[in-house]
Amino acid sequence: MNERPEPGALVFEAPRRGKPPLHLMDLDPAGRRAAVADLGLPGFRADQVSRQWLGRLSDDPAEWTDVPEAAREEIRRALLPTLLTPVRSIDCDNGTTVKTVWRLHDGALVESVLMRYPDRVTMCISSQAGCGMNCPFCATGQAGLTRNLSTAEIVEQVIAGARSLQRGEIAGGPGRVSNVVFMGMGEPLANYRAVVGAVRRLTEPAPAGLGIGARGITVSTVGLVPRIRELAQEGIPVTLAVSLHAPDDGLRDTLVPVNTRWKVSEVLGAAWEFAATTHRRVSIEYALIRDVNDQAWRADLLADLLVGHLVHVNLIPLNPTPGSKWTASRPEVERAFVRILQDRGVAVTVRDTRGREIDGACGQLAATAG
Ligand code: SAH
Repeated sequence: MNERPEPGALVFEAPRRGKPPLHLMDLDPAGRRAAVADLGLPGFRADQVSRQWLGRLSDDPAEWTDVPEAAREEIRRALLPTLLTPVRSIDCDNGTTVKTVWRLHDGALVESVLMRYPDRVTMCISSQAGCGMNCPFCATGQAGLTRNLSTAEIVEQVIAGARSLQRGEIAGGPGRVSNVVFMGMGEPLANYRAVVGAVRRLTEPAPAGLGIGARGITVSTVGLVPRIRELAQEGIPVTLAVSLHAPDDGLRDTLVPVNTRWKVSEVLGAAWEFAATTHRRVSIEYALIRDVNDQAWRADLLADLLVGHLVHVNLIPLNPTPGSKWTASRPEVERAFVRILQDRGVAVTVRDTRGREIDGACGQLAATAG
């Protein structure tokens, strides 16, 4: 039998190495009750601890006064292992943008970024340690994939940010996380089960989850078509972002190598299905790279593909990454690109470059401990 190999460098299945210990946040409420019952404790203790962990954001068993002391310790030890250890934090924008590098239990490193705006707080989180998608302009892709994160490793990034905000540790005073974007390290849809589990934990109200509105959550993908279809069926109205970066297959094959497997037309077809099923406007991400994908004719071609659909284009000025020969488009070229889309009636915004000076912006997350 002749089986066609996967396109060269793309990794769809993550290595299993370093599977993290089970954590309460990996489980739904029923699973938590069962896990607590396995410890010989009444199942409702799981709800009480969940209310402390997710509702009050308390990670200190001494504060869980509704739970007997012995049970607190037992649950903490068995079901709340420390999954993320901060290696370092750097901030900019007067402390309103904070990037944190985390060490996982097996030494793998991931990053998350908290961005506070006047009207919202967005957390950009990682779904994998490294990434297997190999996009040449993205720093994360250069080192390849280390492993998938567990649901709890994903959720705990948001809880850590929510805790800092609640405690007033972020400039601007106490606050809450209103938005979560899966735009840190990794391809979320290549770690589908853990990511959907995390989205459920983030959106369900306490004690099941953190109670963040699904509309404030964005899942960003290179375009794994079967997974986009599956996500549409989950019944969670998250925002889908598609990293398109080129309207033509010839160029997209080189910028987003998974395009050799699923073409622009297939990816957009799946995106329109997602919009039809969820009634959510799809976001198209397009990093403007000088003299690579920023020509007026490509803006026209992009408009041809998008016009009339429930869609919004997010142009991202290319952020510098080590060793890359590419740079951002000239300002006048960027303006012309925007105007062509606008004139065709396609909604478009240019993303800010928050976190650029701390290597915390799109495509810059590479997680070195130094
Ligand atoms: N793997 C997912 C999510 C992570 S990246 C995805 O590709 O969608 C989040 C966004 O940042 C993606 O659109 C990605 O293409 C973009 N990006 C990567 N490197 C970049 C860079 N150097 N400058 C600007 N945007 C970049």
